[in-house]
Amino acid sequence: MKEEILKHLRNSQGKDAAHSSVYDWRVALSLALRDRMVDHWFRSTRETYESGAKRVYYLSMEFLIGRLVEDTAANLGLVQEAKTALAELGQDYEAIVLNEPDAALGNGGLGRLAACFMDSLASLGIPAYGYGIRYEHGLFKQDFVDGSQVETAETWLSQRNAWEFARPEVQFRIGFGGHVEHHEGKAHWHPWETVLATAYDTPVIGWKGSWGNTLRLWSAKPEAKFDLKSFNRGDYLAAGRSEALARTISRVLYPDDTTDAGKELRLKQEYFFTAASIMDLLRRFLSDHDNIRELPNAVAIQLNDTHPAIAGPELVRLMVDEHDVPMAEAIGLARQCLGYTNHTLLPEALERWHIGLLGRVLPRHLEIIRAIEDDQQAKHPGSPRILEQDHVRMGELAFIMAHKVNGVSALHTDLVKETVFADLNRIHPKRIVNETNGITPRRWLHTCNAPLSELVTQEIGEGWVGDLEQLKALNQKSGDRTFLDAFSAAKRQNKEQLADWIAQSCDIQIDPAAMFDIQIKRIHEYKRQLMNILETIALWNEMHDAPNAEWTPRVKIFGGKAAPGYHVAKQIIHLINDVARVINNDRVTKDLLKVVYPPNYNVTMAERLIPAADLSEQISTAGKEASGTGNMKFALNGALTIGTLDGANVEIREHVGSENFFLFGLTAQEVVERRHVHGFSRAAIEASPRLTRVLGQIFEGVFSPSDPSRYHGLIGTLYDHDYFLVTCDFDSYFDTQRRVDEVYRNPQNWAAMALRNTANMGWFSSDRTIKGYARDIWQVNASEKVRLELTG
Ligand SMILES: *Cc1c(COP(=O)(O)O)cnc(C)c1O
Repeated sequence: MKEEILKHLRNSQGKDAAHSSVYDWRVALSLALRDRMVDHWFRSTRETYESGAKRVYYLSMEFLIGRLVEDTAANLGLVQEAKTALAELGQDYEAIVLNEPDAALGNGGLGRLAACFMDSLASLGIPAYGYGIRYEHGLFKQDFVDGSQVETAETWLSQRNAWEFARPEVQFRIGFGGHVEHHEGKAHWHPWETVLATAYDTPVIGWKGSWGNTLRLWSAKPEAKFDLKSFNRGDYLAAGRSEALARTISRVLYPDDTTDAGKELRLKQEYFFTAASIMDLLRRFLSDHDNIRELPNAVAIQLNDTHPAIAGPELVRLMVDEHDVPMAEAIGLARQCLGYTNHTLLPEALERWHIGLLGRVLPRHLEIIRAIEDDQQAKHPGSPRILEQDHVRMGELAFIMAHKVNGVSALHTDLVKETVFADLNRIHPKRIVNETNGITPRRWLHTCNAPLSELVTQEIGEGWVGDLEQLKALNQKSGDRTFLDAFSAAKRQNKEQLADWIAQSCDIQIDPAAMFDIQIKRIHEYKRQLMNILETIALWNEMHDAPNAEWTPRVKIFGGKAAPGYHVAKQIIHLINDVARVINNDRVTKDLLKVVYPPNYNVTMAERLIPAADLSEQISTAGKEASGTGNMKFALNGALTIGTLDGANVEIREHVGSENFFLFGLTAQEVVERRHVHGFSRAAIEASPRLTRVLGQIFEGVFSPSDPSRYHGLIGTLYDHDYFLVTCDFDSYFDTQRRVDEVYRNPQNWAAMALRNTANMGWFSSDRTIKGYARDIWQVNASEKVRLELTG
């Protein structure tokens, strides 16, 4: 390893050891690790070609990957070797790990799910490609200026990306616009603009190097040659124009996956990566098949939400226009290949494109969508329509073009059946299935939480990393004082590390003995960070009034970004920061309560915070969080959850036991009913003196003395349009928090409850989720050989 690192330092970075920066060392280490991936990767590809096995294609607009050095070294079993080699070279492994940029090609849960799935597909030995976009700028960087969010561009590619292999020879022409000619029953699309999609491949190696798959990300390049004539005339801008336009397509990640951006560029991004991926998989298929009708036996294409839903029409277009398959048959064949994952019921997040826009950008696809609509109406008269008024509804399109549609938690899948797709579910009653989300135990316990991971391995061996259900054996230890002490000591060690980091990065001193209460996720009204900060103020009031009463000291930690155009979410951020400033400066409560909000939440920060959490905040309005995966990461790492009956919280509670979960709040059913009660929020506020006081303080400017009316709008909304029922759940939330305080004061009991969480979270491994997709949707097998290696 030492030789390999030095070789890359010299030959790949062109540096000698004496003049190398930590960046050079990091690239050299990454390249040395990548070298060790290549054999596994080639072997897997060869095996797949030889066996003719079916391949999975996971199409996702987002992959929230995070850093890769540690994860890769761990999966290859090379962490110790790398540390030793670097130490002998006088370098610090930890400093090198910290030097890596966090690859944030996603917004939140949906993108992180795709990244966990890539790890599980490889760990299970399922031949698979992940397909997405190689955004030049990932999710924006967040800073706070006077408590307000400020966004700046993220630049992960400004340094060399050591993990990827550029494939300039893998190129596809992607057309936009133009017109369609029909003669002799054949359609000819003449786009007026084309860009090239070129591939960048990152190998993804599973646990123990068992198998290697590929994450193939597409970058947009101009088709036209550089305009030398204009350049020579001195018109430099014109010379670069077509290039700039083409590159725009893979320039930035849309920072909001919950609203229909309604932007032409967004539609182009979606078609760009979807079309390139479909063309690529067809090319691979045709390299060893003659008959396009065999396609469903060879490929399973999974659509991560509707962003790649144009895959259906694109596949049909290629079959009909280029392979002479009749339309109806092409629709059937495409359907057999496609699966669609629904991630949301929020009406504002269901993609719809204006027919005018779609017809202008993708004229042939609009014709095919009409043919799909006609086919559906002919077979199922009265079926819900894809084209409604002036819009193309992508959810309906994805549903109709998929042979399986899945929700992401048991509750969410029931709601999908009862609400958004109720009518389609009646027509196709077997199409909707549930695949509850999961998380990879490699990143989310094994690498992010060394103290706990080592303790678990000492106790039950290392098999749990590849087979998380083995954690169940820890249930026997919940009455073992020595083990519980060791379990608490591991948590304590993580809390001390986090306290050091917060002292350094936020200049706030926190006590590791206090309860660490953490809510980290995108800022959204339905996730109810607002309710959390209102409860924080109520608690502070009572602590301030009676500082000598019996209190459980707490540190409230928040993390998360708001979409740049989401005004209310940004106000909530501002409020949290305003409240933090006031509370953290109160001398009366200084040993009882602190509020911390480190900026720029990302995967790396999650890996730092989650192992140190005592309490996990999963408090969304019931019926709104499709699944959540943050909830799983916390429970696996031995935090107790305070949560509503929403998303996967329901199943987490069933697995860890209701006595080890702090439940509060209205159910999804009650939420719907309560909204029909006239004046429900005003009534809830008036019934709660505690909440009335808090809202009054914010309204009067206690937390924003320089701008007392800052939150008038926010508070006014709670009185009149509290759509997310913050006011109705407030008292139940506050009371449950006081029960949490009481339980925390008995450390032995708390540790036993936390252990019950860790021990019973094995089911939430994304390995289990992927096995479900493989069995119910893709009809592919995990490699038996790999399975034996993992569990043996
Ligand atoms: C897991 C994760 C999420 C998803 O969190 P939820 O609490 O399920 O919304 C979002 N962002 C990052 C960085 C994550 O690691």
